Amino acid sequence: MQGMRARSSQGRAAPPRRKRSPLAQALQQAEAVCAAADLPLTAPRRRVLEILLSAVGPMKAYDLIAAYDGAGRAVSPITVYRALEFLEQMGFVHRLESVNAYVACRAGRRGHDAAFLICKRCGGAEEFEPDLASEQAAALAAGFKLERVMLEARGVCRNCR
Ligand SMILES: [Zn+2]
Ligand SMILES: [Zn+2]
Repeated sequence: MQGMRARSSQGRAAPPRRKRSPLAQALQQAEAVCAAADLPLTAPRRRVLEILLSAVGPMKAYDLIAAYDGAGRAVSPITVYRALEFLEQMGFVHRLESVNAYVACRAGRRGHDAAFLICKRCGGAEEFEPDLASEQAAALAAGFKLERVMLEARGVCRNCR
């Protein structure tokens, strides 16, 4: 598969000045992005993002709805779906169509091209930034305006092999 020769998006964040958990940092960063866009990171949006950031792999919407309930109160599914829609638009989460699940973005940039290696055994998904030179050239040659590329590759991860 061409374009999968990718650079992992993990491990190139600058070290933080103060010791803060990666989760707290990611939430704070999301808050700053929302504030700059004048769009509130409401409690449901924040909570859904928090669950996805803490998750070990992609989560389906109904798992998010089940996990949301932390204070003994059930959340309405529509609240979670709306929060997911917002988070996806803001680039904080990606939707993996092939497994119909959501995963927190590890790159932290809005509207970027993404490639995922999805393990069919453990359900894990590793995010990469794809090298799309050949796809871009093909699109250009076809007169096609390429907007965004999401690659979802299925296989078996290192841990499950
Ligand atoms: Zn991403
Ligand atoms: Zn696996």
